[in-house]
Amino acid sequence: MTPLLDIQGLSASYGRAQVLFDISLQLHPGEVVALIGRNGAGKTTTLKAILGLVIARAERLAFKGQSIAGLPTYRIARLGLGYVAEDRRIFTDLTVEENLEVGRQAQRAGRSPWSRERLFGLFPNLAEMRGRRGSQMSGGEQQMLAIARTLMGNPDAILLDEPSEGIAPVIVQAMAEVIRAMKAEGVAVLLSEQNWAFAAAIGDRACVIERGTIRFAGPMADFLADEALRAETLGV
Ligand code: ATP
Repeated sequence: MTPLLDIQGLSASYGRAQVLFDISLQLHPGEVVALIGRNGAGKTTTLKAILGLVIARAERLAFKGQSIAGLPTYRIARLGLGYVAEDRRIFTDLTVEENLEVGRQAQRAGRSPWSRERLFGLFPNLAEMRGRRGSQMSGGEQQMLAIARTLMGNPDAILLDEPSEGIAPVIVQAMAEVIRAMKAEGVAVLLSEQNWAFAAAIGDRACVIERGTIRFAGPMADFLADEALRAETLGV
Protein backbone atom coordinates (compact mmCIF):
# COMPACT_ATOMS: atom_id res chain seq x y z
CA MET A 1 0.00 0.00 0.00
CA THR A 2 1.28 3.49 -0.81
CA PRO A 3 1.98 5.34 2.43
CA LEU A 4 0.00 8.49 3.08
CA LEU A 5 3.09 10.10 4.54
CA ASP A 6 6.48 8.89 3.39
CA ILE A 7 9.61 10.23 5.04
CA GLN A 8 13.05 8.99 4.09
CA GLY A 9 16.46 10.22 5.11
CA LEU A 10 15.25 13.32 6.99
CA SER A 11 17.84 15.48 8.75
CA ALA A 12 17.42 18.81 10.49
CA SER A 13 19.60 21.32 12.32
CA TYR A 14 19.20 24.39 14.48
CA GLY A 15 22.04 26.62 13.36
CA ARG A 16 25.11 24.41 13.40
CA ALA A 17 23.66 21.82 15.76
CA GLN A 18 22.23 18.85 13.89
CA VAL A 19 19.33 17.35 15.85
CA LEU A 20 17.77 14.86 13.38
CA PHE A 21 19.81 12.20 11.59
CA ASP A 22 18.48 10.17 8.68
CA ILE A 23 14.92 9.72 10.00
CA SER A 24 12.67 7.44 7.97
CA LEU A 25 9.05 6.69 8.78
CA GLN A 26 5.82 5.92 7.00
CA LEU A 27 2.21 6.52 7.95
CA HIS A 28 -0.49 4.55 6.13
CA PRO A 29 -4.17 5.55 5.79
CA GLY A 30 -6.13 5.08 9.00
CA GLU A 31 -3.08 4.03 11.00
CA VAL A 32 -1.83 5.39 14.34
CA VAL A 33 1.97 5.55 14.52
CA ALA A 34 3.53 6.60 17.82
CA LEU A 35 6.83 8.46 17.72
CA ILE A 36 8.10 7.71 21.21
CA GLY A 37 11.08 9.33 22.87
CA ARG A 38 12.40 11.22 25.85
CA ASN A 39 12.36 14.95 26.33
CA GLY A 40 14.67 16.47 23.71
CA ALA A 41 14.91 13.30 21.58
CA GLY A 42 13.68 15.14 18.48
CA LYS A 43 9.94 14.39 18.29
CA THR A 44 8.73 17.97 17.90
CA THR A 45 11.50 18.76 15.44
CA THR A 46 10.46 15.76 13.31
CA LEU A 47 6.86 16.99 13.12
CA LYS A 48 7.98 20.54 12.38
CA ALA A 49 10.39 19.34 9.68
CA ILE A 50 7.54 17.47 7.94
CA LEU A 51 5.51 20.69 7.92
CA GLY A 52 8.34 22.92 6.74
CA LEU A 53 8.48 24.77 10.07
CA VAL A 54 12.18 24.05 10.57
CA ILE A 55 14.86 23.87 7.92
CA ALA A 56 15.41 20.25 6.94
CA ARG A 57 16.73 18.03 4.17
CA ALA A 58 15.22 14.74 3.10
CA GLU A 59 15.72 12.12 0.43
CA ARG A 60 11.96 11.89 0.26
CA LEU A 61 9.21 13.83 1.99
CA ALA A 62 5.88 13.00 0.40
CA PHE A 63 2.21 13.21 1.32
CA LYS A 64 -0.30 11.25 -0.81
CA GLY A 65 2.47 10.48 -3.28
CA GLN A 66 3.31 14.14 -3.83
CA SER A 67 6.50 15.81 -2.66
CA ILE A 68 5.88 18.37 0.08
CA ALA A 69 9.54 19.31 0.48
CA GLY A 70 9.86 23.08 0.38
CA LEU A 71 6.08 23.70 0.21
CA PRO A 72 4.74 26.44 2.47
CA THR A 73 3.02 25.03 5.55
CA TYR A 74 -0.45 26.30 4.59
CA ARG A 75 -0.23 24.43 1.28
CA ILE A 76 0.70 21.22 3.11
CA ALA A 77 -2.30 21.74 5.42
CA ARG A 78 -4.55 22.22 2.41
CA LEU A 79 -3.47 18.84 1.04
CA GLY A 80 -5.06 17.34 4.15
CA LEU A 81 -2.28 17.16 6.74
CA GLY A 82 -3.47 18.62 10.05
CA TYR A 83 -1.26 19.63 12.97
CA VAL A 84 -1.93 20.06 16.67
CA ALA A 85 1.14 21.68 18.22
CA GLU A 86 2.34 21.04 21.75
CA ASP A 87 1.36 24.57 22.78
CA ARG A 88 -2.20 24.05 21.44
CA ARG A 89 -2.63 27.43 19.76
CA ILE A 90 -6.33 27.91 20.20
CA PHE A 91 -7.71 31.43 20.05
CA THR A 92 -8.05 32.31 23.73
CA ASP A 93 -10.25 35.38 23.08
CA LEU A 94 -12.75 33.30 21.11
CA THR A 95 -15.36 30.88 22.48
CA VAL A 96 -15.34 27.15 21.86
CA GLU A 97 -17.92 27.55 19.10
CA GLU A 98 -16.00 30.40 17.50
CA ASN A 99 -12.77 28.39 17.56
CA LEU A 100 -14.57 25.55 15.76
CA GLU A 101 -15.96 28.01 13.23
CA VAL A 102 -12.39 29.11 12.42
CA GLY A 103 -11.59 25.43 11.81
CA ARG A 104 -14.62 25.03 9.56
CA GLN A 105 -13.56 27.96 7.42
CA ALA A 106 -10.31 26.11 6.75
CA GLN A 107 -12.25 23.01 5.67
CA ARG A 108 -11.20 21.36 2.46
CA ALA A 109 -13.64 20.59 -0.31
CA GLY A 110 -15.43 17.26 -0.19
CA ARG A 111 -17.74 15.63 2.30
CA SER A 112 -16.52 16.06 5.87
CA PRO A 113 -17.49 13.50 8.49
CA TRP A 114 -16.84 16.13 11.19
CA SER A 115 -19.80 18.41 11.82
CA ARG A 116 -19.84 20.61 14.91
CA GLU A 117 -22.56 18.46 16.49
CA ARG A 118 -20.63 15.25 15.81
CA LEU A 119 -17.56 16.78 17.46
CA PHE A 120 -19.66 17.87 20.44
CA GLY A 121 -20.79 14.24 20.72
CA LEU A 122 -17.19 13.11 20.72
CA PHE A 123 -16.06 15.85 23.11
CA PRO A 124 -18.96 16.17 25.59
CA ASN A 125 -17.01 18.54 27.83
CA LEU A 126 -16.61 20.96 24.90
CA ALA A 127 -20.35 20.82 24.26
CA GLU A 128 -21.00 21.85 27.85
CA MET A 129 -18.70 24.84 27.56
CA ARG A 130 -19.52 25.89 23.99
CA GLY A 131 -19.91 29.55 24.96
CA ARG A 132 -16.77 29.72 27.07
CA ARG A 133 -13.65 31.56 25.96
CA GLY A 134 -10.42 29.63 25.45
CA SER A 135 -8.69 31.63 28.17
CA GLN A 136 -11.13 30.17 30.73
CA MET A 137 -10.39 26.54 29.87
CA SER A 138 -7.93 24.10 31.45
CA GLY A 139 -4.91 22.83 29.53
CA GLY A 140 -6.65 19.52 28.80
CA GLU A 141 -9.80 21.24 27.57
CA GLN A 142 -7.72 23.51 25.32
CA GLN A 143 -5.96 20.44 23.95
CA MET A 144 -9.32 18.84 23.13
CA LEU A 145 -10.49 22.04 21.45
CA ALA A 146 -7.29 22.21 19.38
CA ILE A 147 -7.90 18.65 18.15
CA ALA A 148 -11.60 19.32 17.44
CA ARG A 149 -10.72 22.48 15.52
CA THR A 150 -8.17 20.59 13.41
CA LEU A 151 -10.72 17.84 12.65
CA MET A 152 -13.16 20.54 11.43
CA GLY A 153 -10.70 21.07 8.57
CA ASN A 154 -11.39 17.46 7.41
CA PRO A 155 -7.77 16.21 7.34
CA ASP A 156 -6.65 12.79 6.05
CA ALA A 157 -3.88 12.70 8.64
CA ILE A 158 -3.00 14.60 11.80
CA LEU A 159 0.35 15.19 13.45
CA LEU A 160 -0.36 15.32 17.20
CA ASP A 161 2.43 16.62 19.39
CA GLU A 162 2.42 15.22 22.96
CA PRO A 163 -1.35 15.42 23.53
CA SER A 164 -1.13 13.78 26.98
CA GLU A 165 1.47 16.16 28.38
CA GLY A 166 0.42 18.01 31.52
CA ILE A 167 -3.14 16.70 31.32
CA ALA A 168 -5.31 15.13 34.04
CA PRO A 169 -5.56 11.31 33.78
CA VAL A 170 -9.31 11.39 33.11
CA ILE A 171 -8.75 13.68 30.13
CA VAL A 172 -5.90 11.47 28.89
CA GLN A 173 -8.40 8.60 28.74
CA ALA A 174 -10.88 10.74 26.83
CA MET A 175 -8.04 11.69 24.47
CA ALA A 176 -7.40 8.01 23.73
CA GLU A 177 -11.09 7.59 22.83
CA VAL A 178 -10.94 10.58 20.52
CA ILE A 179 -7.87 9.19 18.73
CA ARG A 180 -9.67 5.85 18.31
CA ALA A 181 -12.66 7.69 16.82
CA MET A 182 -10.38 9.47 14.32
CA LYS A 183 -8.86 6.15 13.34
CA ALA A 184 -12.32 4.61 12.91
CA GLU A 185 -13.12 7.46 10.53
CA GLY A 186 -9.98 6.68 8.51
CA VAL A 187 -7.88 9.60 9.75
CA ALA A 188 -4.22 8.58 10.16
CA VAL A 189 -2.38 9.90 13.21
CA LEU A 190 1.32 10.46 13.81
CA LEU A 191 1.48 10.84 17.57
CA SER A 192 4.54 12.20 19.34
CA GLU A 193 4.69 10.97 22.94
CA GLN A 194 6.95 10.63 25.96
CA ASN A 195 4.19 8.67 27.71
CA TRP A 196 4.89 5.27 26.15
CA ALA A 197 2.03 3.53 27.99
CA PHE A 198 -0.48 5.98 26.50
CA ALA A 199 1.13 5.62 23.08
CA ALA A 200 1.04 1.82 23.38
CA ALA A 201 -2.66 1.85 24.23
CA ILE A 202 -3.60 3.52 20.95
CA GLY A 203 -0.71 3.05 18.51
CA ASP A 204 -0.60 0.38 15.80
CA ARG A 205 3.12 0.82 15.30
CA ALA A 206 5.94 2.41 17.28
CA CYS A 207 8.97 4.40 16.19
CA VAL A 208 11.40 5.04 19.02
CA ILE A 209 13.57 8.11 18.61
CA GLU A 210 16.72 8.75 20.61
CA ARG A 211 19.09 11.67 20.10
CA GLY A 212 17.59 12.39 16.70
CA THR A 213 17.89 8.83 15.39
CA ILE A 214 15.22 6.14 14.95
CA ARG A 215 16.27 3.30 17.24
CA PHE A 216 13.30 1.00 16.62
CA ALA A 217 10.42 0.84 14.17
CA GLY A 218 7.89 -1.96 14.24
CA PRO A 219 4.57 -3.28 15.52
CA MET A 220 3.52 -1.95 18.92
CA ALA A 221 3.47 -5.51 20.30
CA ASP A 222 7.20 -5.86 19.52
CA PHE A 223 7.94 -2.55 21.26
CA LEU A 224 5.95 -3.70 24.30
CA ALA A 225 7.80 -7.01 24.43
CA ASP A 226 11.21 -5.31 24.39
CA GLU A 227 11.89 -4.21 27.96
CA ALA A 228 15.59 -3.69 27.30
CA LEU A 229 14.83 -1.22 24.50
CA ARG A 230 12.49 0.75 26.77
CA ALA A 231 15.03 0.82 29.58
CA GLU A 232 17.78 2.00 27.27
CA THR A 233 15.90 4.59 25.24
CA LEU A 234 13.27 5.81 27.70
CA GLY A 235 14.82 5.00 31.07
CA VAL A 236 11.74 3.02 32.18
P1 ATP B 1 10.07 17.66 24.00
O1 ATP B 1 9.49 16.55 24.77
O2 ATP B 1 10.82 18.63 24.82
O3 ATP B 1 9.13 18.31 23.05
P2 ATP B 1 11.31 16.54 21.67
O4 ATP B 1 11.60 15.09 21.57
O5 ATP B 1 10.13 17.04 20.98
O6 ATP B 1 11.24 16.94 23.18
P3 ATP B 1 12.77 18.53 20.24
O7 ATP B 1 11.97 19.65 20.80
O8 ATP B 1 12.52 18.13 18.85
O9 ATP B 1 12.61 17.25 21.18
O10 ATP B 1 14.31 18.87 20.44
C1 ATP B 1 15.37 18.10 19.87
C2 ATP B 1 16.69 18.79 20.17
O11 ATP B 1 16.73 20.03 19.49
C3 ATP B 1 16.92 19.07 21.62
O12 ATP B 1 18.29 18.85 21.90
C4 ATP B 1 16.59 20.54 21.77
O13 ATP B 1 17.35 21.12 22.79
C5 ATP B 1 16.99 21.09 20.41
N1 ATP B 1 16.17 22.25 20.03
C6 ATP B 1 14.82 22.27 19.93
N2 ATP B 1 14.38 23.48 19.51
C7 ATP B 1 15.49 24.24 19.32
C8 ATP B 1 15.72 25.57 18.88
N3 ATP B 1 14.71 26.38 18.53
N4 ATP B 1 17.00 26.00 18.80
C9 ATP B 1 18.03 25.18 19.13
N5 ATP B 1 17.88 23.91 19.54
C10 ATP B 1 16.64 23.44 19.64
